[in-house]
Amino acid sequence: MQTQGYFDQGALIGVLTTQPLDRVLDYRAPEGGCHLGAFVEVPLGPRKVLGVVWGEGRGDWDLSRVRSVIRVLDAPPMRAELMSFLDKAGAYTLTPMPAMLRLATRAPGLGDPPSMRRVYRLGDTEPVRMTDARRRVLEVLRDMGGLSLTLKELAEAAGVTTSVVKGLVKHGAVREEDSPRDTPFPALDPDLGGKTLTEDQQAAAASLRARVAARRYGTTLLKGVTGSGKTEVYLEAVAECLAQGRQALVLLPEIALTAEFLTRVEARFGARPAEWHSGVTMTDRRRVWKMVAQGGAQLVVGARSALFLPFRDLGLIVVDEEHDTSYKQEDGVLYNARDMAVLRASICDAQVVLASATPSLESWANAEAGKYHRLELTSRFGAAVLPDMRAIDMRAEDLPASSWISPTLARAVQQRLDRKEQSLLFINRRGYAPVTICRACGHQIGCDHCDARMVEHRFVKRLVCHQCGESRPLPQACPSCEAEDRLAPVGPGVERLAEEAQARFPDARLAVLSSDMFGSARALKAEIESIALGGADLIIGTQLVAKGHNFPLLTLVGVIDADLGLQGSDLRAAERTFQLIRQVAGRAGRADKSGEALLQTFQPEHPVIRAILSGDEQNFWSAEAEERRAAGVPPYGRLAGIILSSTNAQEVFDLGNALARQDAPLRRVGAQVFGPAPAPIARVRGRHRVRLLVKAPKGAPLQPALADWVAPFKLKGDLRMAIDIDPQSFF
Ligand code: ADP
Ligand code: ZN
Repeated sequence: MQTQGYFDQGALIGVLTTQPLDRVLDYRAPEGGCHLGAFVEVPLGPRKVLGVVWGEGRGDWDLSRVRSVIRVLDAPPMRAELMSFLDKAGAYTLTPMPAMLRLATRAPGLGDPPSMRRVYRLGDTEPVRMTDARRRVLEVLRDMGGLSLTLKELAEAAGVTTSVVKGLVKHGAVREEDSPRDTPFPALDPDLGGKTLTEDQQAAAASLRARVAARRYGTTLLKGVTGSGKTEVYLEAVAECLAQGRQALVLLPEIALTAEFLTRVEARFGARPAEWHSGVTMTDRRRVWKMVAQGGAQLVVGARSALFLPFRDLGLIVVDEEHDTSYKQEDGVLYNARDMAVLRASICDAQVVLASATPSLESWANAEAGKYHRLELTSRFGAAVLPDMRAIDMRAEDLPASSWISPTLARAVQQRLDRKEQSLLFINRRGYAPVTICRACGHQIGCDHCDARMVEHRFVKRLVCHQCGESRPLPQACPSCEAEDRLAPVGPGVERLAEEAQARFPDARLAVLSSDMFGSARALKAEIESIALGGADLIIGTQLVAKGHNFPLLTLVGVIDADLGLQGSDLRAAERTFQLIRQVAGRAGRADKSGEALLQTFQPEHPVIRAILSGDEQNFWSAEAEERRAAGVPPYGRLAGIILSSTNAQEVFDLGNALARQDAPLRRVGAQVFGPAPAPIARVRGRHRVRLLVKAPKGAPLQPALADWVAPFKLKGDLRMAIDIDPQSFF
């Protein structure tokens, strides 16, 4: 009944829906039949839901009750490659298939008939009476050379009111017609731009081009200091991919990055690519989704979820700043986009380029082991050299209470101000102060729903919980002893540092960059562009500034607390600190002036601080790798985090203990379970949290063992269990 992926009318088929059910449901193929992978609408109880034809039906229940597919949606069927990717990614992350399908259908109105919009183009008669305004409209349309515009676009471009355009329509000088809204993206020309590459860059680009041209799977770690031209090089790989007639995907960790990146793509290929991230409107999402499926989008630039788009022929995935922690999705489906990129590419015969100045230890180890091809750019482009890095030993600095800029750092900043250069002060803490304490009774204000302190955000005049987002106005009186005006901030956040900097350098123009100071991604983009053009003398920023922005006038980076990341018990604390500080320091001296990075630290002898300063990366990675190997943790062993939560503390612990006791399925594959233990943040949003950690040897079949292990436990009441394969955070 199934001929080459086609089901005739009435055939029994299995449909995967986006509804939270644990199986593929049986239906009958509709009138006219349907393809394997077709997007369909099916009845489920009283509702109509979205689904995909996943294969033959199982026929394991009452055949007389099997209902028919309502209709096949107007979208190209899902390709076998994407179906297989969803299957494997679901199995790897232990995610139910309906949730995987939701990831792949995150665009509204997929099944709607093509929506139309009214557009205007040049007519074939001249208007009887020509006015200036009318002439401008006709000129704009002539310049468009056959392309059409909406009423609003046309009126704006010509600088006239819409009634002028309407008047021209009446005379037949302008034609009004309906055209589909979801139009292909402008064609990109792989042979257009392109800078003259240095010898180093040339060699790397040629190697990537050859790999892309081979149309087979492979992963390359493209390592190069910030500013060495990694982007220029991987754009050559994109060019080759486009020349092959295949599609390319570039993943970026932070949408604020895309403004600069899109401009570079436009300069290189003559047009803008499709964008996919949380800032894209619903209408544009649908256009991107459809065009990716139909081949009307050659290049997509996006956030991690772009990996689940229905590419017609994906030939290359670039993961820029591959070490970035934002590639790991931390709620809902817990996946790491870097690893999933490798998985998808291996299924669709595509190349992967992982680009970074400070690769993750995982990728470093894969390259060492020969699983990944390695390319390295060793020098910065042009005159730019890596910044001088020095420690400021805070034990020897004389600082007044509640201030964080040491005299040494302040002198360096003053020097830049005098020379009209930019400085950046980096502190990885949002808000004004991490702790608010009552001077009368010592009470620290905490969140009512979480085991976390409320963080003062003076900018919005509120206390905010960084765990659950709950916020409230800053109280006048202590909530515990009711003493008035005795609440005091303790410790620095980015806002407080900005206050200190402004007091110390009153004439400097300050810019504060922290994720919660911008209402929208667009506002943040605008601010970053303005800073790059010299709109500020002193930048005060959190982690947000570490992510690849280009500030050509910046010559000094001051790290306020280089020790901050070293305190955690996190297995990746050293790696993270190393990457973050190297990245931030890399912001300095990117153009023709050399840069300096100063690290304020109380422990200049700490091995991680020394490794950062010496720049001896290979040494740092090898030492770190040795420790992880000895401990049997990733990338030399496997980990899975189990997070249990409930409003009832007793219930979570009971479940945790029961899991720990009945660990036979784990022991069978050589895995061990640790815990249960209260999570470092033991309560979030009123839910008590308990963690278990499963550790397994590298080659062990961990996922099936985990599935067997948890299967007998039914989650009662509001108990929840999340399984995090390869956990990145342990909070
Ligand atoms: P990375 O991605 O490694 O940080 P980029 O590709 O962003 O480096 O390059 C840093 C800067 O140097 C960019 O402004 C880029 O346009 C410029 N650049 C790099 N290589 C060249 C080249 N061969 N010719 C001209 N400009 C270059
Ligand atoms: Zn909270």
